[in-house]
Amino acid sequence: MTHPCLSCGACCASYRVDFSIYELDDAGGRVPAGLAVEVNGSTCRMRGTDHVPIRCAALTGKVGEQVGCGIYEWRPSPCHELEPGDYGCEKARARHGLPPYAEAVGDRIV
Ligand code: SF4
Ligand code: SF4
Repeated sequence: MTHPCLSCGACCASYRVDFSIYELDDAGGRVPAGLAVEVNGSTCRMRGTDHVPIRCAALTGKVGEQVGCGIYEWRPSPCHELEPGDYGCEKARARHGLPPYAEAVGDRIV
């Protein structure tokens, strides 16, 4: 069974992903600094989420078909906070023409 997120990726191509510079690996955190751009002295943003069309530079594959996060273990805090099926998830899925999360998981939820 494949997790629905692996055939989605809509949230990674819908929102600015901003987080503290202290999450960057060159500041003691884990997020690869090369994949982020500076916003100001305390905040940075995942590269690719700072322009339109939005698409995080760490996202691999094709949205709505097959995707992956190239830095899954080291992804920044906003990526941990967005939960499948929550408001942000559903909004992103709708934006990309995908059915609601509950519908996508269908009978896979036990
Ligand atoms: S939009 Fe929802 S279902 Fe799609 S990858 Fe993000 S959390 Fe997963
Ligand atoms: S870091 Fe990974 S989980 Fe976060 S937006 Fe980028 S591709 Fe998605």
